Amino acid sequence: CADQAMYISKDEGRDCFHFFTEQMQQNAERTANLHAALKLALDSHAFELYFQPIICLTTNKIIRAEVLLRWEHEGKFVSPEEFIPLAESSGLIVDLGHWVRQESMSFLLTLQETSPDIGLSINVSMYEFWSHSLQDNLINSILNIALNLTAEPFPFDMLTIEITESLLMKQHNHLIASLQKLRNMGIKIAVDDFGTGYSSLSYLSHFPIDQIKIDKSFIQNSDHSIKQQALVKAITTLSHALDLNVVAEGVESVEELEFVRTAEIEAVQGFYFYRPMTKASLLRLLD
Ligand code: C2E
Ligand code: MG
Ligand code: MG
Ligand code: MG
Repeated sequence: CADQAMYISKDEGRDCFHFFTEQMQQNAERTANLHAALKLALDSHAFELYFQPIICLTTNKIIRAEVLLRWEHEGKFVSPEEFIPLAESSGLIVDLGHWVRQESMSFLLTLQETSPDIGLSINVSMYEFWSHSLQDNLINSILNIALNLTAEPFPFDMLTIEITESLLMKQHNHLIASLQKLRNMGIKIAVDDFGTGYSSLSYLSHFPIDQIKIDKSFIQNSDHSIKQQALVKAITTLSHALDLNVVAEGVESVEELEFVRTAEIEAVQGFYFYRPMTKASLLRLLD
């Protein structure tokens, strides 16, 4: 009996070992391949910007679009949820972020010609705020892009920068000063995916921010959960008391939209209205 048990466990053990190494090896290979491909992608123009409209619920008009990075690799789109962390761990995020801002700010000037009321909201990785010098680089690079794009004053007031909640846990004076510099230029600061990090609500009053974007996990199926609704309403009330704008992310159904309206959230973004789209599609839509 003992022999048999040993035999079975050895056999199972061998199977498991086999299964895990294969899976792990595949993952490691994919990561290594993507890492190498990412570096080449930036030089070979394999990235593209998509835009997802954000709608004001008072006027029912598009007020802004969030810029979302797309990467087509070997004929398929790789999710930013997969490649952004790779770009962050390899340090490529700084160059990639610079490219996103360059393209977005240039497109903003195009938008200004036909739709001067439409702004753009750009995601900036927390890694670009990692050190004092990275923060200074970020601000200087935004100023330089603007100077190179136009001799006129750049419409910074039409730009929003989305940072993540986890950044606010690095409660450093330099970070506060950097965010304040961006705001002094006219740029708005939004806290993205609000509610998913570990920051406390009190951070909202300490940081120079203009807007919070309530994460889609709080919005989705909100019509089914009274507690979730109470939470979203409380976050919204508090944000309004602090003079912050609130955007609901991930609205997919008419029920979710109804709830967002009753919570007095002022703007929404989600597949119910529009999926992320190309530049050309956005221009056609605004037309
Ligand atoms: P995010 O900034 O929170 O962007 C919103 C994400 O939610 C986008 O996913 C968008 O397509 C998705 N979304 C919008 N409405 C709905 C909806 O109704 N239902 C569902 N299920 N999803 C919805 P995407 O484009 O895959 O981007 C994922 C994340 O990757 C972004 O989350 C952001 O954190 C990051 N990311 C994307 N572009 C950039 C970039 O240029 N720079 C940086 N640093 N991060 C980026
Ligand atoms: Mg975002
Ligand atoms: Mg978000
Ligand atoms: Mg997100």
